[in-house]
Formats: sequence, structure tokens, C-alpha cells
Amino acid sequence: MSNKEPTQFPALAGVQRILAVSSCKGGVGKSTTAVNTALALSRYGLRVGLLDADIYGPSLPTLLRPQETTLFQTEEGLILPLDCQGMKVMSFGWIDPDQQRGAAILRGPMVSQVVSQLATRVAWGELDYLVIDFPPGTGDIQLTLTQQLPIDAAVIVTTPQDLSFVDVVKGIQMFDTVKVPTVAVVENMSYFECGSCKEKHRIFGEGAREKLIQQFGFEHTFELPLDPRLSKMSDDGLPMVAKLPEDPVSRIYYDIAEKVHGEINRLQQENPGIPSLSYNVGQNCELTYPDGRIVEIPPFELRYACKCAACVSEYTGEQIVKREDIDPDVYPTEILPVGQYAASVKWSDEHRSSIYPYDYLQEKFDPQP
Ligand code: ADP
Repeated sequence: MSNKEPTQFPALAGVQRILAVSSCKGGVGKSTTAVNTALALSRYGLRVGLLDADIYGPSLPTLLRPQETTLFQTEEGLILPLDCQGMKVMSFGWIDPDQQRGAAILRGPMVSQVVSQLATRVAWGELDYLVIDFPPGTGDIQLTLTQQLPIDAAVIVTTPQDLSFVDVVKGIQMFDTVKVPTVAVVENMSYFECGSCKEKHRIFGEGAREKLIQQFGFEHTFELPLDPRLSKMSDDGLPMVAKLPEDPVSRIYYDIAEKVHGEINRLQQENPGIPSLSYNVGQNCELTYPDGRIVEIPPFELRYACKCAACVSEYTGEQIVKREDIDPDVYPTEILPVGQYAASVKWSDEHRSSIYPYDYLQEKFDPQP
């Protein structure tokens, strides 16, 4: 079982693991990989949900054809996910097929807001995996989404072109900054297997995969062929793992699912857990480490340590809010975990945007643990 921390989102309370499938560019096969890997996880008997978070170009309604696409709400106002191929699935494309065209004009912060709202307003119920098909890219949208949702691990999909290597490293680094481990890199359209000679032709050259193994010792990398059947089956709404489960290409997706599952379980077992921040009225705030050790932080000092743009200049690093500006009796009115790496605090002085990464709190208030 997972040692997952409680989440602030009730809709995700029964979700054991959240896996992001990400890519730096569109069109590399991220959605195809996400849907087939999710299907492979579900064929292993795991309970799987799949969220299409690619709001600019929702592809799940093309890749999967649920029998019933009418959406219903629970009494709590959560959207019931659709059932397809034994999975619970959701996409903007089903919420409002016309509105998706409007998504392209949403600005970055709105996109991450809309996506995380969707993730947290679907009645996922009990799931072993929620696989999220991320919007392509490694910019603010993806970073914010990674910060907002309690994601456990990422899979990065790329193609073999030389430039992609830089992109993959960027992706790994983005997830790293919010303590989300990249558990696998999938090089899609890696080779073309000739029907008659059975030789693998590496049309785009040797790619990112080799370099990742050599330079980073990255263990779990996978190659998927350029296979016209993949694209045909996707267009037909019956992905490879569903249509031809015994095919050698389907077996690669099973392999990805198995390795990802093994790696996430290993990480969860090794992971001692994350710290937590709390406050009891009239006392100090407490940063509690997973081993039970507690560091006390006076509420005033925590408030003064806020690094949001209103308190510290983003450009010069200059402290904007001075000690004398802060109510000496200020105290937290709400503390919530943010992803796996930070806590957000609302304050009695109405200040709302304090986000404290646990590493920052440790460095500032517990420099020699
Ligand atoms: P992304 O999610 O990165 O935008 P998609 O998964 O939607 O990419 O794939 C883009 C197109 O490429 C689709 O038409 C899909 O069917 C096709 N495709 C993806 N992977 C392969 C592959 N390995 N071989 C052939 N076609 C592929």
C-alpha cells in the first residue's frame, strides 16, 4: 500500500498514485503513450483513471469511445467520470465539445487553474492510478499544475531527434524542482521495423535514450517503434493495448506499466514521507518531520519569511514587507499542503499567497537538522 499523505482535495482522497505523462512538444505521441500505458496498468488488474489535461487539444475523445458520454454529477457536485475499457476517463472534450475551441485563448495561469479544477472535481473514487495526460511543454502551466496536484511520478515522452535530449532534461528538471521523480523516459517513433527484413531502421538517428543512459545512468528508458497501426487504431478509438493485447508493441506498453509501477512502489516504500506544517491557536507553528521531530516557528517569523511577490521583489530580491508592517499577533487561519513539496498558509491579516517549500523552511528555521 502507499504511504501517501492526506490530500487537500476530497475527490483525490481515494487515489493511491498520480502519474503525469508529459512531453516538451506536441505531437510526439504523449497521449498515445498515456492511453496505452493506462490500459496496460488496468489490464494488470489495477484500478485506473485517465485524465486528459491537454486542454489545448483534448485527444481522449478520439483515442477512446465510451459507450455513454452524457455526464452526470454526484450530490456533492462532482462530475462522474465516464467508463471505458475498464477505466474511469475524463476530458474537456466531453465536458463541452464546443468550448474546447475556446481553450486556446486561455492564458497560462488560467489553464493550470482550469486543469487542476477538473482533476479535483471528478468523482474518481478508489483508484490505484490516476494517469494524467499533461499539456505539452515545460513552462509555467505545467510547473503550476505539478505544484497544485499531488503528483507522485512522471513519465516523459520524446522522439529521437537530437534537440529532444535537451527537452527531456528540461522536463526532468521541471519535475525535480517540485520533488516529482521522473520514473521513465519513453522514446517514441524510435525506429521503423521493416516488414520483410525485420531490421530496425533508425530513421531519426540514435536519440535521447542512449544519451540518458550514458550521461545520467537513467534506468527506465523505453523505445517504441514508428508504427502506422498505432495511429490507425488511435483514430479508430481502440488503442493498441485494447485491440491487440498480444502484439509485440502492446508488450512494450505492458513493460512500461510494469516498470513504472515497480519504480513508484519502490519510491513510496523508501520515501519516509513529507514534512507537515501545523498551527495550534496561541502556540508556535510546527514543522513536523516524518520521523516525528518538530521544529517550532513563531507565527510572526513565518509570516515575515513569506517569499511571495507582494512580500519580496521578484526582480531584485529586496524585502518589500518590513517587520514593522506585520501585525505582531499575526497567526495562520488555514494551512494546506501544496503537492508533495510545500505548504500554503492563509493569515489573520488577510495575506493569502504564502507558499513555503519545506526545503526553504528547513534551511531558514532548522539549518542544522
Ligand atoms: P501528443 O499527445 O504528443 O500530441 P499523440 O499521441 O496525439 O501526440 O500522437 C500524435 C500523432 O502521432 C497521432 O496521430 C498518433 O496516432 C500518432 N502516433 C503516436 N505515436 C505513434 C507511433 N509510435 N507510430 C505512429 N504514429 C504514432
